[in-house]
Amino acid sequence: MKTKIVFSEKCLQYGAWHVEGPLRLKRAQEILKEKDYEFVEPFYAPEERLLEVHDAEYVCKLKKGVVEDPDTPAYENIYEYARLSVGGALLAAKINGFSLMRPPGHHAGKSGTALGVYTRGFCYLNSVAIAVKSLGKPALILDIDGHHGNGTQEIFQGNEKVVYISLHRYPHYPGTGAHSEGNCLNFPLPADCGEKKYLKVFNEALGKVDVGEFEVVAVSVGLDTHTGDLASLGLTENSYRKIGKYIASLEKPTFFVLEGGYIGEKNGKDIDQLLKGYEKNI
Ligand SMILES: [Zn+2]
Repeated sequence: MKTKIVFSEKCLQYGAWHVEGPLRLKRAQEILKEKDYEFVEPFYAPEERLLEVHDAEYVCKLKKGVVEDPDTPAYENIYEYARLSVGGALLAAKINGFSLMRPPGHHAGKSGTALGVYTRGFCYLNSVAIAVKSLGKPALILDIDGHHGNGTQEIFQGNEKVVYISLHRYPHYPGTGAHSEGNCLNFPLPADCGEKKYLKVFNEALGKVDVGEFEVVAVSVGLDTHTGDLASLGLTENSYRKIGKYIASLEKPTFFVLEGGYIGEKNGKDIDQLLKGYEKNI
């Protein structure tokens, strides 16, 4: 069955000047539409869901728009945009879909910045973390964004129900994720390491966990590992097809949440390939 894409045009309404801007999703959405994916509209995440992950003071500040940092602006109504993006992840978790929404979330920790990092890397609320918490099931989070998900690690560090795996470029923003810590397994990779090396490490990473322990797999999909993007690891469209195949081999209910990826045209093609690789093998 074809994976449904969770998307709302509302996520294109802000931040046109920023690198994390609407075009990165607009073009991706057009490409996926041409390829006959079915789209479903997300709902706004209820506040109590946010509070299962983030502290009340931070959520309150976000509502008031006082969360600006040097790379993460306090856009007008950003709380609502972020809440809708979380809603996308919650719906994706429910229907085993792909949330094609912005803003991203994996750098956002319990109270905003995470693990001593100075900025929130374009993130406001940690959508994937909120979706995993809402399910309440033992979960494997696979973070394939090219940046380490310091927010997700902070939120789940020491959590017995969750294992977090991240493959990311290092040294690079946010500077965390050099080593594994308990249930958070980190695989730092050199810039532009290429598909062969990436897939080898990906396989090794999956080999370190007992997949039988999990009831669900949540994938933080960052496409900025694509050659030429912000955290390039030298991957191509074809690499994402192979990654999708590996994810399918886990044979678990799976959902996907968009993180980074800053070139709309290739985002659309990469997502299509990732899902094709995944679907062909389930
Ligand atoms: Zn990233």
